[in-house]
Amino acid sequence: MSTMRAILKEKPGYGFSFKRVDVPKVGHNEVLVKVKYVSICGSDLHIYRWDESMRNRIKPPRIIGHEFAGEVVEIGEGVENIEVGDYVSAETHIYCGKCYQCRIGKPHICRNLKILGVDVDGAYADYVVVPANIIWKNDPIIPPEFASVQEPFGNAVHASFTVDLSMKKVLITGLGPIGLMSAMIAQAIGSAIVIGTEVNPYRIRLAESAGIEHVVNPLEEDLTKKVMKLTDGTGVDVVLEMSGNPSALKQGLELLTNGGDIVLLGIFDGEVNLKLNELVIFKGVKIHGVTGRLIFETWELATRLLKSGKVDLSKVITHILPFEEWEKGMELMDRGECGKVVLKL
Ligand SMILES: [Zn+2]
Ligand SMILES: [Zn+2]
Repeated sequence: MSTMRAILKEKPGYGFSFKRVDVPKVGHNEVLVKVKYVSICGSDLHIYRWDESMRNRIKPPRIIGHEFAGEVVEIGEGVENIEVGDYVSAETHIYCGKCYQCRIGKPHICRNLKILGVDVDGAYADYVVVPANIIWKNDPIIPPEFASVQEPFGNAVHASFTVDLSMKKVLITGLGPIGLMSAMIAQAIGSAIVIGTEVNPYRIRLAESAGIEHVVNPLEEDLTKKVMKLTDGTGVDVVLEMSGNPSALKQGLELLTNGGDIVLLGIFDGEVNLKLNELVIFKGVKIHGVTGRLIFETWELATRLLKSGKVDLSKVITHILPFEEWEKGMELMDRGECGKVVLKL
């Protein structure tokens, strides 16, 4: 194996290239993984379209992709506790281990954070080199297509466990894959009421078929009326904001009961204008910004949820395509006519 297939951002501008490149060399404290499944992330689509948010971040040429499952085929010097043949995925936040946040046990918000497939070459390839300290050994019971989706699933787990959701009335704004997984988790761990909002018809149907109790299209239904009716006029205890849409955020805050919690995971374009006095301060609302996954606490929780069978990722994974059909996967993502799209190598 001297060369391999890879999908890369070869130069600035729209699109990716699919070509043969050299298999990367494994270095000190790194492992080489043979990729079996890789799933497409919303951020990969931003890179594909060369959206503003990614232009200053990515330095082409760069192999994209960070959500994967595979098998360790080579171990670098200094690596302990990982062996050739291990069935693995990876936390995608590569932390420095030296900064203040890393030293106080918060490596997921490391100040020198690098992201696999963004700042270093990623997993849209037959092989990927991964630092050993972010390798996650998968439970053999978890199918590899599910294992490849654990990274975004971990976002949903992290957000859903930021506040206690048990017997709470929960509103989830935005039912893209992470929002949908969050709704599934909230139902699995015993929230009293779970209401999800979404405007994309495909994703509304997907959420309904995944068994989400209350799915509302705020463009077609009066969301306020519906939420107030379902919550006996109190509003919800918790909002999980997954859309990155300023009007959904505003509506979420309006529907949050006084003293409630809002968890923000959706990414916004630019600045957001909010009437903080009325929507946050006088209501005594608690705001939680959530990014990445707690390393590795979230992974452990995610594994337990999957092993329990209480969350079924087959309801979220709508497409498994051969690696060569990556372009079709990007188009599906672009149109929003999918849940998670997984590529099989
Ligand atoms: Zn991702
Ligand atoms: Zn650090």
